[in-house]
Amino acid sequence: MSERIILLIEDEAKIRDVLRAYLVREGFRVCEAEDGKKGLEQYDECHPDLILLDMMLPVLSGERVAAAIRQKGDTPIIMLTARSEEWERLQGFELGADDYITKPFSPREVVARIRAVLKRAGRALAEDEAVIRAGDLELHPESRTVFTQGQPLPLTATEFDLLFELLKHPGKVYRRAQLAAIVLGYDYESMERTIDSHIKNLRRKLGVNARIIETVHGVGYRSAPGSGE
Ligand code: CA
Repeated sequence: MSERIILLIEDEAKIRDVLRAYLVREGFRVCEAEDGKKGLEQYDECHPDLILLDMMLPVLSGERVAAAIRQKGDTPIIMLTARSEEWERLQGFELGADDYITKPFSPREVVARIRAVLKRAGRALAEDEAVIRAGDLELHPESRTVFTQGQPLPLTATEFDLLFELLKHPGKVYRRAQLAAIVLGYDYESMERTIDSHIKNLRRKLGVNARIIETVHGVGYRSAPGSGE
């Protein structure tokens, strides 16, 4: 497999040094930027496979960088955040981040998250390519696109994976931890709230089709029985 490129946007030189050294040792190519504006320039120049994005950045904030990148495409974004307040996490997911890591973190944890996010992006590509229909949704696995009444829905990679997984098995009940393991690549109990956030965003984007994703109280989620094919 060709070298994966990670774009590291972080203003603290010490963190960049540690992460760069670790990522290079793990076989990644790294391009980097110390502020949000340069981060966007680097995005256009180095065509990253994944972006590590600090939330608190000079010139242009992490939020604004994420929003700008989402205008351009669905390159996975992992947010680095110094504050763990829930509102901030939710805001990150609202912006289309695929995952977040709270500082202080170990480089090992960062690499594990990167591999998990890249793996599910790649795995989904290789899966069954038949189009799935549910309500007036049309999900195209090969292009990772979802249409509603012919219009593409702007889903993040994580939201797409969640919807795809639920629709592949109509009526099957998934525990939150199970969804976290399948979609995020790890199954820490604490990640269950993360799934709730992704589901919330996904439902908002699905609009009238939101009812296709049902909450199974005390357990998790499922797609409505008989919704997919
Ligand atoms: Ca910072």
